[in-house]
Amino acid sequence: MMDIRTLLHQTTRKLAAGGSPSPRLDAEVLLMSFLKTDRLQLCVHPERILTEEECAGFSLWVDRRRQGEPVAYITGEKEFWSLLFEVNRDVLIPRPETECLIEEVLKYYGPESDDLRIIDIGTGSGAIGVALAVEIPAAIVVATDISRGALEVARRNADRHGAAGRMEFFEGSLFTSAVGEVDVIVSNPPYIPDDVYPLLPEGIRAFEPREALIAGPDGAAFHRKIIREGAGLLKPGGRIFLEIGEGQKGLVDSLFRDEGCYTDIYFRKDYGGMERVAAARRKI
Ligand code: SAM
Ligand code: GLN
Repeated sequence: MMDIRTLLHQTTRKLAAGGSPSPRLDAEVLLMSFLKTDRLQLCVHPERILTEEECAGFSLWVDRRRQGEPVAYITGEKEFWSLLFEVNRDVLIPRPETECLIEEVLKYYGPESDDLRIIDIGTGSGAIGVALAVEIPAAIVVATDISRGALEVARRNADRHGAAGRMEFFEGSLFTSAVGEVDVIVSNPPYIPDDVYPLLPEGIRAFEPREALIAGPDGAAFHRKIIREGAGLLKPGGRIFLEIGEGQKGLVDSLFRDEGCYTDIYFRKDYGGMERVAAARRKI
């Protein structure tokens, strides 16, 4: 038996010794999720006693974290766009910088837009597609992924946030023939160059799906295809929003320009100052 204050203290020390860069935060997030409570409750009741059984169960979670497993896979959930998403090892853990993609789409479309058809390519956990379906009530969101396991998670997340009735899921590579014309293409495709992948942190390489990240010699294999094939799918005046990685702005800019049918091409930075979103409009 142990009280919350002591347990948090002890866990923080263990995680720090195990090399976690954010041991106190990890300890709190793990414990909140384990006890199905919130930060406020942890703070106002530090004297709450955990049973032997609870301590033993929690210690298994702490061991997993010490072995480098990301917190979100241990708790089975991750917050994105203030919505809680189920995650497992079939899906990439949604990244905070991907919220920039949502912000950008919402500059043009919102609660007042009607009859909108959006495609989220490589939906993973469904984070992007579900967040957009929640924010744009009249939108139909088509979510595709090559991974069946990911689509199962995305479906459950759509359900969880009341968006399942307005979402369609397709298993297949990029655009499947069943998709039809769309008003908006949005995607956070894999974009890590082959030779950069081995340099990613061990926690990512050992636990997150490789096929969610790796994207050919220049990391733009998916952008190239989406920009090319997307031109035929996008309605005139429709918009495309793609997440990009470090150093990819110039290349993605020329991919859009070379296609000839895009206009209003622009880029925006994330809150860490990195170019993160590429956007363009299909000429009318
Ligand atoms: N959209 C999610 C997000 O932002 O958190 C996941 C993005 S993850 C970087 C890329 C996703 O693309 C993965 O779910 C992966 O399975 C999927 N993917 C990889 N190759 C694909 C392909 N050829 N066609 C469709 N999806 C693909
Ligand atoms: N931003 C992710 C990472 O740092 C990469 C996401 C992607 O390839 N789309 O791991």
